[in-house]
Amino acid sequence: MSRAVLSIGSNVGDSLAHLQSVVDGLGDRVLAISPVYATAPWGGVEQQDFLNAVLVVDDPALDCFGWLRRGQQLEAEADRVRSVRWGPRTLDVDIVTCDQVRSDDPELTLPHPRAHERAFVLVPWLDVEPDAMLPVEGKVTRVETLLAALDEDERAGVRRTQLALKRRSG
Ligand code: ADP
Ligand code: MG
Repeated sequence: MSRAVLSIGSNVGDSLAHLQSVVDGLGDRVLAISPVYATAPWGGVEQQDFLNAVLVVDDPALDCFGWLRRGQQLEAEADRVRSVRWGPRTLDVDIVTCDQVRSDDPELTLPHPRAHERAFVLVPWLDVEPDAMLPVEGKVTRVETLLAALDEDERAGVRRTQLALKRRSG
């Protein structure tokens, strides 16, 4: 059994369609879908704003590496070109947490090592799990508390949109 929190983002092409492709690709495994946020890009590379969202997903047949590989497949299907680090991307799927697993493996670090400092992860995560907790440097902390500790600029850079990801039956 594995339940994961996924952070999905896009800032190339039809970003909303790229995010929607994850919801469609994961189908019944999607338990919760956050609103869509527009986010100023990270890392100082000149590029268009990101759209970001968080999904809570569950699949008894997938372990945490299974979620990583599934996410990478969805990125590949969105024609993601890996060029500049922190540069534009059609689709980025990050595993924020997976069950209670903690891992230092660079291929799959859990929880995601930068999630706690990114408002574009914490804000939509709180929309779908208001009581979410995240271990940071060994200390389990409320996500709400982590968000409150971020710089005002970081929080203000994440703006809720009227866009929505939709569960499609079928
Ligand atoms: P970013 O850190 O901006 O998301 P990439 O999406 O290019 O960068 O990811 C780089 C590498 O990060 C991937 O090859 C993947 O194996 C690794 N990685 C480590 N931990 C995680 C995680 N929790 N979720 C997603 N990728 C991860
Ligand atoms: Mg990634």
